[in-house]
Order: sequence, then C-alpha cells, then structure tokens
Amino acid sequence: MRFTRARRLVIELLEETAGPLSAGDLVEAIEGAIPVSSLYRTLSILEESGLITRFPDQSGLARYELAEWLSGHHHHLTCAVCGATSDVPVPRDLEATLTDIAAEVGRRFAFGVTGHRLDLQGVCTRCR
Ligand SMILES: [Zn+2]
Ligand SMILES: [Zn+2]
Repeated sequence: MRFTRARRLVIELLEETAGPLSAGDLVEAIEGAIPVSSLYRTLSILEESGLITRFPDQSGLARYELAEWLSGHHHHLTCAVCGATSDVPVPRDLEATLTDIAAEVGRRFAFGVTGHRLDLQGVCTRCR
C-alpha cells in the first residue's frame, strides 16, 4: 500500500487521540486538509489493509482506531451521557482473568476464542 498524505494524516490523528474516532470526528480534525470523499476512501483502504479497525459504538455509530497490533491491546470506556469513548489499558492480572473468562465461554460453546473486545458502559468523570 502506498503511504499517501491522506493515509498518513488519518493514521497520525488516530495515533494522537486517546480513543476511537467517528468519521465525523475525523472530518472535524482534518479541517479540510483532505476532501471528505477522499477521507471515506482512505478509511476503507486502511481498514482493508489491516492498519485500522472499525467497530460500532453503543449508539451504533462506526468508530475507527489503530489496529491492536499497532496500538496494543486495550479496552474502551463509553460514557452514556456525552458519548465519549476512551481507551484504557488493563492491568496484567485483570487481563489474565478476562482472558480466562473468554476462554471458558468459548469452551462452553465449542467456540475457538482468538481475542476479545471489552466496552464498558457508564458515566465519565466529567458527566458525573
Ligand atoms: Zn461523559
Ligand atoms: Zn482484554
């Protein structure tokens, strides 16, 4: 894949932000530096090439972030009031427990678990 200016810009923005961004957030952040149509094309190319991940947040809005092989494994906290989603690293001991739980759920349903995503819902410090 060629590393065009638009692709580099999107990767840099996702790298700088402490949580996943929606397409709308990205449009705001690029401030017209690349056309919106090209932003959407860039997002789908980066997703196809495995550099970024897209997932729906709790309101169903698509959010983008760097793939875990680039950013490291983490979980998300989503505020039910303001909708802010932030990344949180999980302490090693807790992560081991989560991995065990995920494996156990897999065993019960004869499902080969290869990873997990944990999105916690609640109220952020600013909204509380
Ligand atoms: Zn909030
Ligand atoms: Zn985890």
